[in-house]
Amino acid sequence: PNELLFYCRPGFERDLARELTDKTYHLDNHIQTVNDPNTGFTRLVLPEGQPANTVHKQLPLTHLVFARQILVAFSPLQLNRNDRITALVSLIQESGWNFEELWQEWPDTNDGKGLTGLCKSLQRPLEGILKKRGALRRKAGKRRLHLFWTSGDCVQVAMSFPQNRSEWPNGIKHLRFPHAAPSRSTLKLEEAWHAFIERDAWDQHLHAGMQAADLGAAPGGWTWQLVQRGMFVYAIDNGPMNADLVRTGLVEHLKEDGFVWSPPDRLDWLVCDIVDQPVRVTRMIERWLVNQWCWYSIFNLKLPMKKRWEEVSACIEQLETTLSDAGITFDIACKHLYHDREEVTVYVRLY
Ligand code: SAM
Repeated sequence: PNELLFYCRPGFERDLARELTDKTYHLDNHIQTVNDPNTGFTRLVLPEGQPANTVHKQLPLTHLVFARQILVAFSPLQLNRNDRITALVSLIQESGWNFEELWQEWPDTNDGKGLTGLCKSLQRPLEGILKKRGALRRKAGKRRLHLFWTSGDCVQVAMSFPQNRSEWPNGIKHLRFPHAAPSRSTLKLEEAWHAFIERDAWDQHLHAGMQAADLGAAPGGWTWQLVQRGMFVYAIDNGPMNADLVRTGLVEHLKEDGFVWSPPDRLDWLVCDIVDQPVRVTRMIERWLVNQWCWYSIFNLKLPMKKRWEEVSACIEQLETTLSDAGITFDIACKHLYHDREEVTVYVRLY
């Protein structure tokens, strides 16, 4: 296979392509990105004969902002609607690869969702034949076979590897809205935790007794998540906070400006969902981190209409430079989450 296939939110294909170009030009300047607007995916096509696995290793999904999934892929395959299975199975068999699972996926578009029935009807028959031919087996290095359908007769055969992929079908973490939460934004913070912190480490990084600040907290969707983990929260916002949340006794609501407020003592968490210029938010977060007012931070950066990748990468680079210059050791990650629309979410952890 000589392609990499990436899933993204429809409408962000070009941003993803720009990001990929930036992150691969030093590897090989003949790598091409291929994308169409609003399709929900971008392809990275390598020159003939160059195996995709090398580039795949250089692009950890956790370091990519706009990608929801990364796969090593064959070129798109045009199928005959009367017999999709024969051509698919022969391509998979000829590749010589074998897998532990078969996932059928589709773009996050209305057309894409219309393909779920087809995928369901093909699952059992395909699994049956692939098992017989030895392409699906119990042990195969945790490799997964992905069939990415873009229409009823066009599919991309691809594969994923356990150390670099999303473990969520279509690269999307679906979360149930908790009805007690004061706003739908609550899902953004919950998804961010899933994206940035291993589930089995949550008790270590998100536990009772910790103290947090939530800037731009009203009506309290993010604060609600922090309180669910047993944290005490300074909720900073001129707007009204949900009364039930304040009654828990774990929330102190302060009607102050999040850009100038500073905590009475060192906290564990800083979260910020204020919609403002990304550069302005970044500067404010920098102040917190350089002063080490918290250990962990999650905040949103609103995306501009144009040059979204350029804006995000400039903010992240600036933050990294400032922290490094201050002699601070840190991890940083940035993702365009499923629940993010015109924004991305950044996670920073200090050591
Ligand atoms: N995360 C919240 C939730 O889950 O319910 C929603 C936050 S809403 C997108 C943005 C909030 O930022 C608004 O409530 C607004 O009042 C607040 N805000 C805007 N500028 C602010 C500032 N300078 N300081 C504090 N809050 C601000």
